[in-house]
Amino acid sequence: MNTDTLIQQAIDLLSGARYVVALTGAGISTPSGIPDYRSPESGLWEQAEDMLEVASVYGFRHRPQVFYQWLGPLLRVIYAARPNPAHMALAELESAGRLEALITQNIDLLHGRAGSRNVLEVHGHLREIVCLACHYTLPAAPALEEYLSSGRVPHCRRCHHVMKPSVVLFGELLPYGTMRAAQAHARAADVMLVAGSSLEVAPAGDLPALTRASGGRLIIVNFMPTHLDNEADVVIRGDVAEVLPRLVAPFVGPPAHLDPPNGRQYNASWGV
Ligand code: ZN
Repeated sequence: MNTDTLIQQAIDLLSGARYVVALTGAGISTPSGIPDYRSPESGLWEQAEDMLEVASVYGFRHRPQVFYQWLGPLLRVIYAARPNPAHMALAELESAGRLEALITQNIDLLHGRAGSRNVLEVHGHLREIVCLACHYTLPAAPALEEYLSSGRVPHCRRCHHVMKPSVVLFGELLPYGTMRAAQAHARAADVMLVAGSSLEVAPAGDLPALTRASGGRLIIVNFMPTHLDNEADVVIRGDVAEVLPRLVAPFVGPPAHLDPPNGRQYNASWGV
């Protein structure tokens, strides 16, 4: 079946839906130039001897300097990145009142910068850093920019312990409240739109199965096959930055400009 036909099928599903939820993964940010930091093919691991150690909470506690050395290049890429048409499409779908919630496995804050409001970041985010000893929390951008310019690892100003970005590392639990909310949305959804997720990382990758178990339908847009393709009503193999704007077009009117003309200019800060 050709892509035009599949896109029309997906549009038909969305048209008849009452409660649409989206689930996004690393693939929605790769058109913005951000590699999948969990993937050994990302290039981020060439200098790191062992990703499971460096990007684990164990590795962080024992060698925070090594963790930050690994994180630095990823931070620079994320600072420079901008939302792409796939992020914008989902924000527009929400603004049009056709998207109840956006669940993302990404930490890069691009959905918020695109204008999405109800975003559930099940793998955490780079908006804050937190002290592992006393849980003191600060906005991440100033401390991480300071790290990038000086190489000084952020330390807690209350107890002087090292501080960690609020991202979920290997060996850490997902944020409980966020995950519970994501599961509730997945069960309530009559259509889940999966975009740019390989669905390999559990338990977030299991959310579409909750939708299916509740009688909901699945639309999957991803370059690579996923283990739930056989369960999906529509599977579109393609570039999310090309496919998603076409999927949402009937619901949102003419395409929006990538830089919203309302004075909300994006700079190097991650402030949302
Ligand atoms: Zn502290």
